[in-house]
Amino acid sequence: MTNINFYGGVDEIGGNKVLVNDNNSSLFLDFGMSFSTANKYFSEFLQPRKANGILDFTEFGLLPDLKGIYREDYLRHCNLTCESEPSVDGVLISHAHMDHSAYIHHLREDIPIFITPESYLILKTLEDTGSTSFGEMINLKKSFHLTPKKNVKKGPDNRRSKGVECMVERDIRIIEPYKDFSVGDVKVKSIPVDHSLPGATAFLVDTGDEAIVYTGDLRFHGRRRDFTEKFVKEAKKFKPTTVISEGTRIDKDSNVNEESIEKTASNLVSNNRGLAIVSFPVRDLDRFLTFYNVAKNTDRIIAVSLKLAYMLNLFNGNGYPRVDEMAVYVPRKDWGMMGDECLACLEGNWLPSSHLHSYHTEQDYKNWERKFLNWDNTITYRDLHENPGDYLFGCDFFELKELIDIKPENGIYLYSKTEPFNEEMEFDFQKVKNWIDHFNLPLITEGMHGSGHANGVELLNMIREISPEKVYPIHTEKPEEFNNLTDDGINVVYPELSIKK
Ligand SMILES: [Zn+2]
Repeated sequence: MTNINFYGGVDEIGGNKVLVNDNNSSLFLDFGMSFSTANKYFSEFLQPRKANGILDFTEFGLLPDLKGIYREDYLRHCNLTCESEPSVDGVLISHAHMDHSAYIHHLREDIPIFITPESYLILKTLEDTGSTSFGEMINLKKSFHLTPKKNVKKGPDNRRSKGVECMVERDIRIIEPYKDFSVGDVKVKSIPVDHSLPGATAFLVDTGDEAIVYTGDLRFHGRRRDFTEKFVKEAKKFKPTTVISEGTRIDKDSNVNEESIEKTASNLVSNNRGLAIVSFPVRDLDRFLTFYNVAKNTDRIIAVSLKLAYMLNLFNGNGYPRVDEMAVYVPRKDWGMMGDECLACLEGNWLPSSHLHSYHTEQDYKNWERKFLNWDNTITYRDLHENPGDYLFGCDFFELKELIDIKPENGIYLYSKTEPFNEEMEFDFQKVKNWIDHFNLPLITEGMHGSGHANGVELLNMIREISPEKVYPIHTEKPEEFNNLTDDGINVVYPELSIKK
């Protein structure tokens, strides 16, 4: 007998954690963060405490109170028992958005994580370049783990370092599309779908007495719509008893696609002589591709952040442009010096004889950033200030401060992201507006964003075509909009949350 328990994604967009239990085997479909619950109790400066392990998360139902799934270092530190064996056979990750994957951080390292190659690269980018305290998705750094002092090596400055970090690799299993694999006794197949980042997949899960289709997040209007269309065919052939379907935009009936964003943006940018600036979601390489094309169409070069350069370098082509086909923007940090413009030298200040400009420059940057510092295609605020018409500058929220150095004149600002849908986002969006106003840049939002999610008409037609016995609407605030399907003989079951908030 198969049980399906929902620990997130119920009456909310995201936070998917679905536990499928069979007689001998069990697996999670995604293990993501619920933004709405997290935002309800926490904010940038009111964060869960690491010292309390999982307890600050279970307190508010952000994590389920289950045995045998959490990391040993956290459990032991809080005097909770750590089982000798994991209680689940694996976690299937549909894609690398945080509402589906963020809480991998809390899982034991011996639980296999099944993931597509693209999702792996995105999570690796986040882990290598990020600075959050709860971002150990690929490697787990043992916390509260002390190395005896006599074993701690002295650092280059002849001081003893705080301790050697104990890193453990997670059991990551890279999955191939359309190939069967097993999780415990359960047979699983990954079917690629199109969503607003690379590597999204749906899963076909065969427990023996239930055939379950899990859609993950998907759309039919992206650059890889053929993936989603093929998914519908495969899912239908699977003759599922159950579909667990996303319903983010179940109440909408239209879409904006990448091709139309490219066309609208190209027109706007070609009629502008100043610096064209664009803000787009950082993991959405398809949106990046749209603006890469916009730059090409308008004889400009796209300038990307160090983070995006790092991610594209990991992707190494594979359908996306390579880093040497664009400009990499290097911001000023700490000392704020760049090669030839060491102010201390220019002003004749005394510096030790070992002083070198490049020394300063390197020291300002993290290891992963350094490889981009002296590339031929590296640019700084001076390039954008002096030749604004040559560039399309990718400038995210945290990069707005670059505008102070760049001093853009007669430019244009394209906001290619979802419109704010909660108070925190409204706050940030108002800040964007204030910055853009300050620099007299027209703010363009109209026609600049397309969703990663299928609309209601497409979702209902998809489920009709797949034709399961029952459907669980998740990842939606409007599950009742699925009721139309009852006319087609499909049982619409509202999932219940197996966790108290
Ligand atoms: Zn999602």
